[in-house]
Amino acid sequence: MSVQDDLWFDATKCFIGGTWVAPLGGEYLSLKNPSDGSEIAKIARGKLGDVDAAVLAAKNALTGEWGRMTALERGRILTRIGQLVLERVDELARLEAADVGKPLKQARADAVALARYMEFYGGAADKIHGHTIPYLDGYTVYTLREPHGVTAHIVPWNYPMQIIGRSVGAALTMGNATVLKPAEEACLTALSFAKIAEEAGLPAGALNVVTGLGEEAGAALSSHPDINHISFTGSVGVGSLIQKAAADAIVPVTLELGGKSPQIVFDDADLDAAIPFLVNAGVQNAGQTCSASSRILVQRSIYDKLTEMMAERYRAMKVGPAMDDLDVGPLISARQKEIVEGFVRHAGPARIVAQATVITGAPDGGHYFAPTLYAGIDPDDPLAQNEIFGPVQAIIPFDTEEDAVRIANGTAYGLVASIWTHDGARQMRMAKAIRSGQIFINNYGAGGGVELPFGGVGKSGHGREKGFEALYGFSVLKTVAAHHG
Ligand code: NAP
Ligand code: MG
Repeated sequence: MSVQDDLWFDATKCFIGGTWVAPLGGEYLSLKNPSDGSEIAKIARGKLGDVDAAVLAAKNALTGEWGRMTALERGRILTRIGQLVLERVDELARLEAADVGKPLKQARADAVALARYMEFYGGAADKIHGHTIPYLDGYTVYTLREPHGVTAHIVPWNYPMQIIGRSVGAALTMGNATVLKPAEEACLTALSFAKIAEEAGLPAGALNVVTGLGEEAGAALSSHPDINHISFTGSVGVGSLIQKAAADAIVPVTLELGGKSPQIVFDDADLDAAIPFLVNAGVQNAGQTCSASSRILVQRSIYDKLTEMMAERYRAMKVGPAMDDLDVGPLISARQKEIVEGFVRHAGPARIVAQATVITGAPDGGHYFAPTLYAGIDPDDPLAQNEIFGPVQAIIPFDTEEDAVRIANGTAYGLVASIWTHDGARQMRMAKAIRSGQIFINNYGAGGGVELPFGGVGKSGHGREKGFEALYGFSVLKTVAAHHG
């Protein structure tokens, strides 16, 4: 079965104001399959004019049918989108596997997560409200939660469905009208999402999708004078540009950037329970995960044992085409492969303890990289400091709890951390001491729950998505003070 069989819409069009339109410039980009390098579709190369049209359509939606809908009606539409996503889970998974290179079961999990975001936010739409505030005699004071207006959503290629779900889903819940710019390297599920939203009866202009290059469509969107909020997920470098654009326009911005997330393993931990989490969190999606756990901090007394247990898993790991549904797929692009290989070249072979195997017969045009485990890494080593965005993990030994905290907090990032110990007091001390947006105790990621607020500190970004918390971020609080004597 080819990708074309699953494309039930025209991927060369943008979705603007409820209609599918060709890019004004008539130019197209080639979308590639990371598993073999073949072209899977052409997409529109949207530019300023297309972004202008999308923002205008969103603005009009706010005063049209979408803007007049009740929270209940918005919630019902989101829930319907979730149902339609569930009906199409298999084709969405195949599209994502072909587009991003992720093994089919991971792509499927992402599609299910997208549906779950729609269900969660659909159900939440009419359950978020303002307050009344006891005030001076003769006054009634209350607060209203209102949409920002037009929200811009700039999404990376690594988890398109999940990030669209958490960002666009929450924004629509609160009544914003959205403009989505997916990454040029992975657009198919963003366009599928628009098609499904259209089928679910989402009013025209509530969701607009413009594909194109980051420096063209993305920059045009983030600097557009008529947007009222920006949600960006991606690299620190582009995040900084986005925040500058938001500063010029004085609009709020949510930045979900990278990480160097640690898992900290004490000598009383249940290693059999920990090992799958320690390894999977580093290699899932070929390590191209903002919350990838690329640092494993291990108490020295169990360092040798844990290193060997992780190494064993690496040696058994198979890498190959997404459709083969092995442990790990290819990296997204030749460029990404070059970046990851650059780190490995620079580190040298001496501290590599194990590598996975790329299966024989993996297509030459695919961007395969064998997951690589390093041990005995110094906390200041580039492998322990820089986000690699590939399946590379560094084991770092420590002696005391204080050392563990210092090392864990010793990078510019703070997205996710986990603590493996059965000492309850230590769990509490560590959870307080670690600078991170999320802390997991004796697990990692807690199944990725859509209910769990997510976001970073430091260079990992700011603002929170997921859960109810996102709904506060995607709305503005208005205070009404009425004097009635
Ligand atoms: P990226 O280069 O920052 O791109 C992210 C998005 O921004 C893409 O849609 C991109 O479009 C767009 N973009 C690029 N240049 C732009 C510009 N000048 N103005 C406006 N938009 C622009 O990141 P990436 O390479 O796609 O993803 C990898 C990075 O994202 C990693 O550092 C990772 O940690 C981070 N990430 C973080 C999270 C999180 O939730 N914290 C999740 C996923 C990824 P094009 O692709 O079309 O250029
Ligand atoms: Mg692609």
